Amino acid sequence: VNMFMEPIKRLVSFNEQFQKGMAGFQRFIELLDMEAEIKDKKDALELTHVKGNIEYRNISFGYNHHSKVLAGIDIKINVGETVAFVGPSGAGKSTLCKLLPRFYEIDQGELLIDDINIKDVSLTSLRKNIGIVQQDVFLFNGTIKENIAYGRLDASDEEIIAAAKKANAHQFIMNLEQGYDTNIGERGVKLSGGQKQRISIARSFLKNPPILILDEATSSLDNESEKIIQESLKRLAEDRTTLVIAHRLSTVIDADKILVLTDDGIVEQGKHQELLNQDSGVYKSLYESQFELVS
Ligand code: ATP
Repeated sequence: VNMFMEPIKRLVSFNEQFQKGMAGFQRFIELLDMEAEIKDKKDALELTHVKGNIEYRNISFGYNHHSKVLAGIDIKINVGETVAFVGPSGAGKSTLCKLLPRFYEIDQGELLIDDINIKDVSLTSLRKNIGIVQQDVFLFNGTIKENIAYGRLDASDEEIIAAAKKANAHQFIMNLEQGYDTNIGERGVKLSGGQKQRISIARSFLKNPPILILDEATSSLDNESEKIIQESLKRLAEDRTTLVIAHRLSTVIDADKILVLTDDGIVEQGKHQELLNQDSGVYKSLYESQFELVS
């Protein structure tokens, strides 16, 4: 389930879900339920002028009462840093990231942005400051321009084009017969996986959030699109605080900090070479078993 979808996306995709039948409908209802649990507190502040310091302070969280996914997590991320989360499947890397836009309520501990508890600010203002890029791209039935503008609805054409250029999407868009006015989705042109990703990256450039969550693709594209996308993602992460659920060796090597998450919590942190130097380290064995093969 794509839990990073924001409420409006859920509504837009309702029709699509419905057409996929009851299974999809059920899922939609579940997402709505989840959303309804989390509300602004009374007198919630507006989160503005975010620099992008992030702190997880003794965080515990479980999806239900009988099992904890995360316990006693302490993390400090400084403005502009890129941190890569690595660890075995199911350790809670994406859960950790989902707590930041408050898709779930933390059971214990505090999550702070620039020393402000995220529970004290409005959900809208919190999420305005966080961009999310993931493998499961959400595009709706509409023109390319509209799909990029979804990142910021009041954007001008010039801003949309500038964002597409940064995302390495401008060229392929211009090669389409109707350019930015090309309809995509069910009734329009079918885009490749890599092209869709570039549209969503353009959307994030337009939104320009101080904080970015990047869920790296596990399934690989062809080498050429892969390279183009990596390059634009790197540009997107510049000058913002970036949390990456990392699957690419190049990402962890370049990260300011790697955080190794296992069932025991954050067990190691440091830069690539530092962690590799730890002889019986978890990172070292992860590196040997996973990354070398997929890089
Ligand atoms: P991967 O590398 O495979 O993506 P991960 O480290 O990101 O794994 P999470 O996706 O955060 O791990 O999952 C952590 C644990 O929480 C897993 O045991 C998973 O089954 C469980 N989990 C994830 N999402 C939900 C959910 N919506 N409801 C209940 N349990 C969930």
